[in-house]
Amino acid sequence: MTLRRSLFARLAVLVTAAAGTLTVNTAAPAQAAACSGYVGLTFDDGPSGNTPALLNALRQNGLRATMFNQGQYAAANPSQVRAQVSAGMWVGNHSYTHPHLTRLGQSQIDSELSRTQQAVANAGGGTPKLFRPPYGETNSTVKSVAARYGLTQIIWDVDSQDWNGASTDAIVQAAARLTNGQVILMHDWSANTLAAIPRVARGLAGRGLCAGMISPQTGRAVAPG
Ligand SMILES: [Zn+2]
Repeated sequence: MTLRRSLFARLAVLVTAAAGTLTVNTAAPAQAAACSGYVGLTFDDGPSGNTPALLNALRQNGLRATMFNQGQYAAANPSQVRAQVSAGMWVGNHSYTHPHLTRLGQSQIDSELSRTQQAVANAGGGTPKLFRPPYGETNSTVKSVAARYGLTQIIWDVDSQDWNGASTDAIVQAAARLTNGQVILMHDWSANTLAAIPRVARGLAGRGLCAGMISPQTGRAVAPG
């Protein structure tokens, strides 16, 4: 009786353990199979004191993103550039001082882009391959200088309007408009964007979309390589 009981107890433990293992093992493939497309989440204007909370939220919700850093902030907060990379983010160039690049001459544009490449690299963020002009303002000179540094210009398909005071609801709704391959504009400094992240993650997952990297070749969101 005692033997039987202890055997039963052991079996129960084994069954429970197996069930636990089964749950863990099936979860990962199910999630992978659920990626029917990829979108590019982008956060401009960091790194800043807001970056740690943003990175935590992204990690907790299984999201990766492209951080278009200002060079002046990368130079001031190098540890946050490294934190972005450690959290699985991609780091892009968003100019050094955030000027209206289309109002500058070629040598000033060159300085804005090259100093940012250097600041990000010096911080440990690698050499950016992606570039977003401030305000999305560009012209042929900006594009040619970017190309000189091996940078692909990335604007956006969907503007979250977080820079314009969009509510958390509105930011969630903007992300809901993303389709496969598209890129959304958000900002490192927006509290409403930070608050929106769990709902953005659920919304994308519900539509089979995963957060991907932005391809320097095509400028479209693709599976992380
Ligand atoms: Zn900006």
